[in-house]
Amino acid sequence: MSGGKVLIVEDNPVNLRLAQFLLEKAGFTVAKATSGAECLAQLELDIPDVVLMDIQLPGEDGLSITRKIRATPRLAAVVVVALTAHAMAGDREKILAAGCDGYIPKPVDPGRLAGEVRRYLHQGRLKSA
Ligand code: MN
Repeated sequence: MSGGKVLIVEDNPVNLRLAQFLLEKAGFTVAKATSGAECLAQLELDIPDVVLMDIQLPGEDGLSITRKIRATPRLAAVVVVALTAHAMAGDREKILAAGCDGYIPKPVDPGRLAGEVRRYLHQGRLKSA
């Protein structure tokens, strides 16, 4: 039984491996990308339920990639959750304005990551105003 498909976009290999381990252990099917370009290429191949989007990426950043996802009708149902090391006042607004459905602060809490992803998956896309 699959808990859903998650595409993890993360350029740090340690963070990527940890998130993959935690989500697979919880029953999710995981795909990976280490840049925005790889993320967009993956989304051409397969549409996940949730994209976990690191904001700080080499090249195009996670907010820019999220805007591209949100501009793509075939990806309308994909839930995008930002992974951000700077979840401070102002950043939250920028993250939501880019089209993310929410964010998970980094470093991720290993005991909570899978549960948070499951909650976002079940909650689905935010209603856009
Ligand atoms: Mn990063």
